[in-house]
Amino acid sequence: ILDKDGDEIVYRSLKPLPPLAHSNLASFILQDACIKYETRTAMVNGATGDEYTYGELREWVASTAAGLTALGVKQHDVVLVLSPNLPEFPVIYLAVLFLGAIVAPSNPLGMESDIVKQVKQSNARFVVTVPEQLSKFQTFGRIPIILIEDAGAENIPAYPQTQANDTCTLLFSSGTTGLSKAVQLTHENFISAITAYNTLEPGQSTMETDVCLAIIPMFHVYGLGIVMLATLERGASVVIMPRYSLPQMLSYIEKYRITVATIVPPIIVSLVKSAEVAKYDLSSLRIIATGAASLRQDTMEACATMFPQCILRQGYGMTELPLISFSVVEKERLQWGSVGVLVPGIEVRVTDVETGRALPPLASGELWIRAPMVMTGYLNNPEATAATKDSQGWLHTGDLGHVDTNGLLFIVDRLKEIIKYKANQVAPGELESIMLTHPSILDVAVIPIPDEEAGELPCAYVVRREGTDINEIHVMDFVGKQVAPYKKVRKVIFTESIPKSTTGKILRRILIERHHRTQ
Ligand code: AMP
Repeated sequence: ILDKDGDEIVYRSLKPLPPLAHSNLASFILQDACIKYETRTAMVNGATGDEYTYGELREWVASTAAGLTALGVKQHDVVLVLSPNLPEFPVIYLAVLFLGAIVAPSNPLGMESDIVKQVKQSNARFVVTVPEQLSKFQTFGRIPIILIEDAGAENIPAYPQTQANDTCTLLFSSGTTGLSKAVQLTHENFISAITAYNTLEPGQSTMETDVCLAIIPMFHVYGLGIVMLATLERGASVVIMPRYSLPQMLSYIEKYRITVATIVPPIIVSLVKSAEVAKYDLSSLRIIATGAASLRQDTMEACATMFPQCILRQGYGMTELPLISFSVVEKERLQWGSVGVLVPGIEVRVTDVETGRALPPLASGELWIRAPMVMTGYLNNPEATAATKDSQGWLHTGDLGHVDTNGLLFIVDRLKEIIKYKANQVAPGELESIMLTHPSILDVAVIPIPDEEAGELPCAYVVRREGTDINEIHVMDFVGKQVAPYKKVRKVIFTESIPKSTTGKILRRILIERHHRTQ
C-alpha cells in the first residue's frame, strides 16, 4: 500500500499482522504444537537418526529448564550458547526463554578472542557448549560452563512471567558499520516475524506435513527464527544437520524425504553446478528457500530449471529485523530479481540518501523499516543504536532499493560496510585493524568484490611501508591466523594511497567504483 501523507510515502503490507497470542516466545512455539502434535516427530538428529516427538520435546525442554534452574540460571540472566546445529540447541534455547532468561548464540567458527569479546559484550553469566568447543574457554576464569548433556533435572520450576517486550535473544552482528554488537531482540520481535512468515499463502510456507532441513546455523537469525522456530510452531518435522557438505545434504534429502530445503545462495550455486545432484533422489522437495544474501538471477533460473516441481522462495531480512519480505517464484516466474512483497506488519520508507525525502515507486534509496519485528537496540551501545534506529522508530537498513508499481521490493546495492562471504558477515573494519598492526603495512582498506560462488570476497587494498616487500601471501597469512576461516582476506591489491574524506574516513564507495573500472 502506498500512503501519501504530505511528503511521506510509506509502503505497507496489504495484510495486517494478527495480534500477539503469547508474551513468551517459548510458549508461543511449544504450547499449541506440543499438545496438538504430541506423537508427531518434531526433530530428527540427521547425523544419528535419533527422533524426538513433540511430546518428548516438551518434556526435554521442561527437564532442561529444571536443570538450568538448579545450576543457578534466573530470569534476565544471559546464557551464551556455543554449539553447532543439534537437537539440544533449540531445547536449551526454549528452556532458557521459559525461565525468562536470554540466549546469546555464538558462531562455533569464532576464535577464542571473538568469544571472549561476546561474553563481555552480552554480560553472559553462563556458557552452554559442547565438548569440542571447551578449549576456547581456557581463559574464562569464573564463568560457569555447562556442557549440553549436563543440563537436565527433574523438578520442573514455576516459570516467571515475561513481557512481550522483554529481550529474549542477543545476536551478534556488525550492523551497518564497525565491529560486532549485541542485537537485542524481544519475544515480540520473534513472535511477529514467525507469525508473519506463517501468514504466507498455504503451500508457500511450511505446512504441518512438511519435513524441513535445518542446515542454516542456529546462531543466525535466519536459522534460528525462520527455519528452526517457525517450523516447530507449525508442528512440522525438522531434520537437523550439524555441518554442511553437499553430498551429505543431498543424502539427507533422499533419506529423510525432505520437502522444504532452506539454504543460502552459495549452496544453490553448488547445487546447480554439481554432477553429484543426479546421483540422489530429490523428488520429495517441494520448496527451495534462500535468503541472507543476494542470489544471482542466472543461478535462480538454473535452479528453477533443475527443480521444476519446486517453489523457489527468497526471504529478505537482517539480524536487527528478522523478516522483511518474501518472494515466491512459481511457474509464471513473475518476480525474478525481486525480494518480494512485504510481510504483514512491515512499513517501508525508501529514503533519498542525499535529501532524506521519502521516494515514490521505482526510485531507489535507503530502505528504512518500521515494524514490530525491529530490534529494541544494540545492548549498551546507545550511539550505534541511535545511528541505526531513529526517533520515529525507523530502522535504517543500510540496503539500497526500491518498490515497484506492483508493490514488489528490489534491493539494488548495499550502503553499509558489511561484506557477505557465503552469507556470513565480514566487517572490513575488523580486518583493517588487524592489518594495520603489521609493521610493513602503512594503510589499508577492505572492500567487497563480486564472486560467483561466494557472492562477495573481502579484498584488501594495501599501502606498503616504504622499503618493505610484503606480498599478497604474507598479508593473507597474517590475517588468516587471527580470524575465523570465513573472515579471511581473499585478495590483496597493492596501491599508492587509500581514498579518505577530510575527516580521515575511508571512502569505500570510491574505492569500490575504482575497483570495478580497473579490474
Ligand atoms: P544479516 O544481519 O547477517 O542477516 O545480514 C543482513 C543483510 O544481508 C541485509 O541487510 C542485506 O544486505 C543482506 N540480505 C539479506 N537477505 C537478502 C536477500 N534476500 N537479498 C539480498 N540481500 C540480502
